[in-house]
Amino acid sequence: MNPTTSGNGDHPLCKFCWVSRHFRLEWRPPRDRLFRGVDVSHYQSILDQICVDIQPHLTAGKVADYIPELAAVPVAQFGMALVDIEGKVYRCGAAEQPFSMQSISKVFTLTLALKGLGRRLWERVGREPSGSAFNSLVHLEYENGKPRNPFINAGALVVTDAVLGLLPQAEATILETVRSLSGNKSLGINQAVATSEENFGFRNASLANFLKSFDRLDNAVDAVLAAYYQHCAIEISAVDLARAGYFLANQGAPLDATDPFISPNRAKYINSLLLTCGTYDSVGDFAYRVGLPGKSGVGGGILAVMPGEFSVCVWSPGLDKSGNSLAGTLALEWLTTRTGISIF
Ligand code: GLN
Repeated sequence: MNPTTSGNGDHPLCKFCWVSRHFRLEWRPPRDRLFRGVDVSHYQSILDQICVDIQPHLTAGKVADYIPELAAVPVAQFGMALVDIEGKVYRCGAAEQPFSMQSISKVFTLTLALKGLGRRLWERVGREPSGSAFNSLVHLEYENGKPRNPFINAGALVVTDAVLGLLPQAEATILETVRSLSGNKSLGINQAVATSEENFGFRNASLANFLKSFDRLDNAVDAVLAAYYQHCAIEISAVDLARAGYFLANQGAPLDATDPFISPNRAKYINSLLLTCGTYDSVGDFAYRVGLPGKSGVGGGILAVMPGEFSVCVWSPGLDKSGNSLAGTLALEWLTTRTGISIF
């Protein structure tokens, strides 16, 4: 498929496509194409232009070299996919190219932990921005081993521990959840990436042992680390990740689903955490420039949502000093600037 055209029968000259688009089972009435006065039918041309403009910026970032498998990924790559609230997909560049999900997987483990534990989760992990690097140990000792939030590594290890306590087949269930939310049953885990991180995961091993010393983990340190490396090593494309994150833009209801995945209120809570904690010690800069709740991963992906309007995923492996995709953040800034659509 031409990567600059949207999928699922959207070719303007194709009568059959038009019919299937308007009369398929999940048909919804065409909505007003204006959002706060902005014509949202221009998403495709905006994405196409971003794809062109971003090219000189692709080599400005640095790939994550502390995980050897990720260090081998060529830096000059870019893909972007947006799913609007009607489920229509817009894409550009390498939007179908699978990449390592890394910390974006923390969105899904947090959602599973909240589904299982509700507010009891907050006895184990906080909800404040950390102001320090994603893999930092500094706050843990002062704060008796309670991580600041679920998205820094310490907090994500506690969340993974909670999910291990809730679900007998935790790793398989996390993968199955992402498969079902994205609608792609063939998503898998890149075991070379998981092993590579495990072999060099000295910082995460320190964090997990430190948490255990404060009695903050119920499961064995090795079991928590192994499950964490597995969910970080899920491979997914920008299109599938935008689809998987759609429930956060749609009040907790996934694409093509009859039942909600979470309640609208829980989607609000998660989006608030993404806005305040999703991009680590650059979270203020990200909120200022992009104006959307978002979650980054050191594989170069960023998932962001505009509640009620779209979910979007951008991928480019070169990272800034905080471990967020440099070109990806810029592309999202251009998206909200050029569409005039952000949460603010
Ligand atoms: N697996 C990575 C780590 O623990 C995830 C970090 C990230 O994506 N920010 O270091």
